[in-house]
Amino acid sequence: VCPTGALTEKDHTNQLIRDLADPKKTVVVQTAPAVRAALGEEFGMDAGTLVTGKMVSALRSLGFDKVFDTDFAADLTIMEEGTELLERLQKHLDGDKDVKLPILTSCCPGWVNFFEHHFPDMKDIPSTARSPQQMFGPIAKNYLAKQMGIKREDMIVVSIMPCLAKKYECQRDEFKVDGDPDVNYSISTRELANLIKQANMDLSTMADEDFDNPLGESTGAGVIFGATGGVIEAAARTAYEVYTGKTLEKVDFEALRGMDGIRSATVDFDGLPINIGIAHGLGNARKLLEDIRDGKSEYHAIEIMACPGGCIGGGGQPLHHGDSSILKKRAAALYREDEGKAIRKSHENPYIIKLYEEFLGKPCSELSHKLLHTHYFDKSNEIEIE
Ligand code: SF4
Repeated sequence: VCPTGALTEKDHTNQLIRDLADPKKTVVVQTAPAVRAALGEEFGMDAGTLVTGKMVSALRSLGFDKVFDTDFAADLTIMEEGTELLERLQKHLDGDKDVKLPILTSCCPGWVNFFEHHFPDMKDIPSTARSPQQMFGPIAKNYLAKQMGIKREDMIVVSIMPCLAKKYECQRDEFKVDGDPDVNYSISTRELANLIKQANMDLSTMADEDFDNPLGESTGAGVIFGATGGVIEAAARTAYEVYTGKTLEKVDFEALRGMDGIRSATVDFDGLPINIGIAHGLGNARKLLEDIRDGKSEYHAIEIMACPGGCIGGGGQPLHHGDSSILKKRAAALYREDEGKAIRKSHENPYIIKLYEEFLGKPCSELSHKLLHTHYFDKSNEIEIE
């Protein structure tokens, strides 16, 4: 059972098989960063084996028309969330008493569900940026569909996620247009492994292939979203350069990494100390939230992920039975992929730059707010099934 708010675990595998067989549908898929670091375990590979290229090859063989990367949308999330952070920080430094800090990350739907139920009085503190999954959907259905010359209703967007709460997130009303979800449905890492096996494919022997573009190009910053601390590290890489106007010589913020349930670090923005908090696991998140409520928090920004270890330990991943050494190996795999990337800062992704030039204008523009941001609800009176 998902500990993070996916009310029921819905398996859309049969729906996916029908959609892939429908010649009228264009079926595109996005794959979350954590999936590539764990999928191989279902095929006998060691924990921490990266299978990015083999996974792309398998998805193409299953019949997806385009194979894209949620990491692209993670880069987009950094552009939106990082801009929001800097705007709120600048207002705070200018003495605006109405501005609320710390800003909290918002890319984990298990965590969003948690604060909507338990801390609804604080629902204006998290970033309004949608999760990468939910940023990918509207870009695919509004920007990519136009480029491909197809109608929104003829495009099916599927996500492969380490997460069960993402299934529920796809069905939230605010992520639909006239009843059509921006992301039609989500398939977990384990469900994908079953699909590959049912198709008589062996992932371990598949050749490596590259993602399609334009929504398949990502930076190292997008990759590390899958591990606890990765989202805030990615944000720090971009926010530092935007705020200071200087080039970040060392992009690895090692102080933000690790597996302790609550961590903190101060990052120097050229003389301005930025206090960052990180929590993974909802019990740890609760402690940081209570500090904020009591006026005791000194953080400017906090990353919260519901699952221990972040998405690498998500409820849809191959089971790890609480073995933290497996989580560490999956995290190390993501940091290896980050290190191997030619571009490691979200704002340098050439396809993100093009997306803003051709379509969105600038981060936090009117169109960005319409398509890529959201709002939260007081769900304290609704039953939360865990
Ligand atoms: Fe899903 Fe990741 Fe949040 Fe877990 S930490 S609920 S896998 S988004």
